[in-house]
Amino acid sequence: MKITGLQTYVCHARMRNWIFVKILTDQPGLHGWGEATLEWHTRAVVGAIEDLAELVVGEDPTRVEHLWQMMYRQHFWHGHGIVRSTAISGIDLALWDIVGKVAGLPCSKLWGGPVRDFIRTYCHLGGGKMEDFYETRADDARRFGELATKAVEDGYTAFKSMAVPPTMPLEGLQPLRTAEAAVAAMRGAVGEAIDIMVDCHARPSPAMGLKFGKALEPYGLYFFEEPCWPECLEGLAMINAALTTPVATGERLTSLDQFRDLFARRGCEVCQLDLTHCGGFTAARRIAALADAHRIALAPHNPQGPVSTAASLEFGFSQPGYIICETVHDDVPWRQDVVQEGFTLERQGRIVRPNLRPGIGIEINEAEVKKHPFQQELPQRVFYQDGSVGDW
Ligand SMILES: [Mg+2]
Repeated sequence: MKITGLQTYVCHARMRNWIFVKILTDQPGLHGWGEATLEWHTRAVVGAIEDLAELVVGEDPTRVEHLWQMMYRQHFWHGHGIVRSTAISGIDLALWDIVGKVAGLPCSKLWGGPVRDFIRTYCHLGGGKMEDFYETRADDARRFGELATKAVEDGYTAFKSMAVPPTMPLEGLQPLRTAEAAVAAMRGAVGEAIDIMVDCHARPSPAMGLKFGKALEPYGLYFFEEPCWPECLEGLAMINAALTTPVATGERLTSLDQFRDLFARRGCEVCQLDLTHCGGFTAARRIAALADAHRIALAPHNPQGPVSTAASLEFGFSQPGYIICETVHDDVPWRQDVVQEGFTLERQGRIVRPNLRPGIGIEINEAEVKKHPFQQELPQRVFYQDGSVGDW
């Protein structure tokens, strides 16, 4: 069996261009789907996949680890830069999809699953609609309460918000009170049985991240995400040690050694590896083993497209440490037209039952994808009041 070609399909979905990877083989009807979405770097990833094709076309697609080693290590440069690691991830997911199809088994079963009966999912406030999630001002507490109510009405038992405003490396009391009011409004709206998460988007400095974390402690957040830059392991470890609220991070890490250092310093309690950036299933399974040794939970980052979601679920049904699946469902109204999924979503509680189809269980509607060609992503740029550059 041989790989005969790699194709990329770019599908513009407002905030992101989803990049789907299709691996073709010389076996009639046998192909694999992966995803390599990297917002604001779409053309670079598509080019990186073209560069990697040289290494894998003509090879046996079921030798996934061998191909992963080639993609990561050959031609001198290692594959942990975000563009190439995303390209490798998309190809790796598609290779595992092929292995599952060859075996006639869902990927989770290839790895000894399913390890659970269902997976709980969580949404972004507004279901992933850009305006609701990213552009609701942190000082609009009433709106946070409304959107929280809506998430619960939609069946979710957990949701994530961006209730922490951008701040300079040091600011006073006001942004803390703003964040506190937004979280209080959400907690007041949904009660204590619902899990609330706050994503800081690595906006704060470690000092500000700690202050926000302390201010939000009384609200019992399920987790507190990226309270400072991922590069600042001392800051993450300091905040994680100082809070009862579990710190979550990992979506921007792209190699096993970065996760090793994060875990060794106890920078988090929840590892948010991204299957489309960290090196695909092959790398994710190594990262999960490391996390398991530290009893760190897994909650993969997944605001991307439908292949990424299916991949996160396959991974989750094979990993005991997996706690919840991030999802977006309302980013574009035609999301479900692009994909046929193998898993079953129960609206009440928004839980997912295992995929029964081989591989990652999805088929992409190529004609539908072609209706949404590449468009430049909308810029998301932050400047502080004094005009200096901030983090989005
Ligand atoms: Mg995040």
